Amino acid sequence: MAVPYAELIGDPVAHSKSPTIHRFWLREMGIVGDYRALRLGPDELAGYLARRRSDPDWRGCNVTMPYKEKVADLLDGVDPFARRIGAVNTVVNRDGFLIGTNTDWQGVNLALEPVGAAGKRVVLIGAGGAARAAVEELRQAEAAHLTILNRSEDKARDLLLRFGGRGATGPVGGDPEADLLINATPLGMAGQPPLAVGLSRLSDAATVFDMVYDPLETELLAEARRRGFRIVDGLAMLVWQASMAFTHFFGEPPPGPDSPRLRELLAS
Ligand code: NAP
Repeated sequence: MAVPYAELIGDPVAHSKSPTIHRFWLREMGIVGDYRALRLGPDELAGYLARRRSDPDWRGCNVTMPYKEKVADLLDGVDPFARRIGAVNTVVNRDGFLIGTNTDWQGVNLALEPVGAAGKRVVLIGAGGAARAAVEELRQAEAAHLTILNRSEDKARDLLLRFGGRGATGPVGGDPEADLLINATPLGMAGQPPLAVGLSRLSDAATVFDMVYDPLETELLAEARRRGFRIVDGLAMLVWQASMAFTHFFGEPPPGPDSPRLRELLAS
């Protein structure tokens, strides 16, 4: 029997928790469907989309590193979120047209909702797709000042323009002053070097948000916790962005996307 399905494409994808999340919701909601992960090489992206376009069971895909920026050129259109952010993390098939959107922004928005970014001095580490989604949120939330630290500083400068240029850029490192510090690089992820950034000049009520979710408590978050700062881990964003994508793929929002049972499953 043909089963409706969605999937994650990227390279690597083996570490991804997306299949666990989407399958959990499919089971919970009694929807017959599947969610898979598919590793694609750079030359395979165009052929993949051409094949899926005519597959009636394919509901769409999530896109991860390193294709979030380049996939847009292969689609029939991108919606205003993805256009403003300059990255696509979700592709849906709308009546034969492949449309790119970006649910990472909503993931950042909902993960930061309890904390808020309005009026804050923010230090953002990274200038890739996830950082772009964060900048869209910081722009909309009217953060007061943004410093972007990135290995390639030219990318940080370009990204700062999307915030209206109010801020500064620099290399990764140092001991920045901030009310909100966000890591949007893979530094600190299992198998990657730790993120070398000091926390001694953060304000007393500062929040540290690490988008990395493997491990859930990175060295950065462990240090932030020791210093008494509020912390937000990568799972919050992951689950919220997935819930938006799930709604696109399967037509209904999952119930209580941040349920403790799902969190427990993902943390194990
Ligand atoms: P991306 O577009 O490839 O961008 C990667 C960013 O990390 C770039 O700024 C890059 O700097 C920097 N970087 C990579 N390796 C580095 C290294 N060894 N030293 C210093 N900087 C390094 O990737 P992305 O999609 O933005 O993802 C970034 C991270 O966010 C990943 O860990 C991903 O898992 C995480 N993420 C989490 C969620 C979630 O829901 N929790 C969602 C999306 C992404 P250059 O510009 O110099 O290359």
